[in-house]
Amino acid sequence: MPDYRLTRISQRIFASAGVSLFKRLHAAGESRVEAMLQSYLQYLRLTAHLRDTPDQLTFDRFYTVVRAFETQDLKMRSCGDCGSEYLVAVDGSMKPGCVFCDVKVRSLARPRFSQLFARDQAAHVERGVARVK
Ligand SMILES: [Zn+2]
Repeated sequence: MPDYRLTRISQRIFASAGVSLFKRLHAAGESRVEAMLQSYLQYLRLTAHLRDTPDQLTFDRFYTVVRAFETQDLKMRSCGDCGSEYLVAVDGSMKPGCVFCDVKVRSLARPRFSQLFARDQAAHVERGVARVK
């Protein structure tokens, strides 16, 4: 049986994005095969700037993950905080919770990222675009 497990956070992000695209195209009436091919092409276009990232999905891996979604070994959940859809393993083998909120929390915890964020907020306030709480 092909391995659909997604152990690293980057794997979960890529897989969640790919399956979300597949789900939308298939729900819109595309055949399973067409939805799979078109969603993978869309996925490649959306992640083209991350081409050298090791956890980016190959088509074989994409197929395995979509198949696990179809057999309900993986399920899609909607995040109540950020509104994103993310994959979870029914067998509990993946960390629960929204992978996108997890990334946000981890990024904000990094001082370098926090400094960049603070500079960006200050620039927006100077231009009157946003307010800092
Ligand atoms: Zn979220």
